[in-house]
Amino acid sequence: MKLVHYPYELILRDVFTLSHSSRTSTPGVQVELSCEGITGYGEASMPPYLGETPATAASFLNRLNLEQFSDPFRMEEILDYVDSVLPGNTAAKASVDIALHDLTGKLQGRAWHQIWGFDRDQAPDTSFTLGIDSPEKMRQKALEAASKYTVLKVKLGSEHDRELILAIRSVTDKPLMVDANQGWTDPEYALDMICWLKEQGVFLIEQPMPRQVIDAQSWLLERSPLPVFADESVQRLSDVARLKGVFSGINIKLMKCTGMREAFRMMQLARSLGMMVMVGCMTETSCAISAASQLSPGADYADLDGNLLIANDLFKGTVVQGGKLILSDLPGIGVEKIL
Ligand code: MG
Repeated sequence: MKLVHYPYELILRDVFTLSHSSRTSTPGVQVELSCEGITGYGEASMPPYLGETPATAASFLNRLNLEQFSDPFRMEEILDYVDSVLPGNTAAKASVDIALHDLTGKLQGRAWHQIWGFDRDQAPDTSFTLGIDSPEKMRQKALEAASKYTVLKVKLGSEHDRELILAIRSVTDKPLMVDANQGWTDPEYALDMICWLKEQGVFLIEQPMPRQVIDAQSWLLERSPLPVFADESVQRLSDVARLKGVFSGINIKLMKCTGMREAFRMMQLARSLGMMVMVGCMTETSCAISAASQLSPGADYADLDGNLLIANDLFKGTVVQGGKLILSDLPGIGVEKIL
């Protein structure tokens, strides 16, 4: 197998009312893995706060010797090798994993949701995230997003939380998820907020407290009237089991967990522990979003809006219609390259 990679800056669409943050771009790396004249596509997305860069990804990918593998279906062996080359580098690892899934799916003429045994009609609606802004801008963002999406997500964690929720509620009553991004350090305060948010039509809370907090988070889960999901507290498969009794569910992201193989295992493990699953994303092109969406029919919730904000998407694949994720009928991860 032959691996090619190149940096690709994701430019955010010029729609100030919808953008996640004040950033205008997110660095990324695109990967192509070829065998028998077929090419699989993969991607690493690297929001700066996670510590990987196009340079670290290129350095990681250059260390790989994938030409030693002639059979792409020996995925266990290949992906174990990729994971073993260096610790960390989860987005770079995910780019190879996604490309290998795309390649092997194409060689079989099947999409991964089919290989995994999912019904793509069961894919959930995706939430659409409103970045923190002034109350006036939050109203505009909520109004605009409510016309296209069925579930909204808002990031909280400042002293203006209630004001922002009331601003959104002044223009829409769409179901709302809240991502507190580890912002509440006092469990009593977190519980008060969750009870109040439930009255405001919020149905799910993501990462209310700092990721290292376990006992206070269990205390909160016992009392919370809403499901509480882990995001920063869960990265990889090895993190899942100890979160039983701490969170109601986990937010699985390909860039955190090294890709589709581990994401599927995390989903199965969470299910076996009686936990719920959300499939989430970073700012990504339709390549990584479509890859993540292959898992979504097996998830309770999807937060796969990262491609909706990109001005220079390289791919066409999973789309959102009336709020619902619509998976393409293409094999592999279900994408075609359009640029
Ligand atoms: Mg989050």
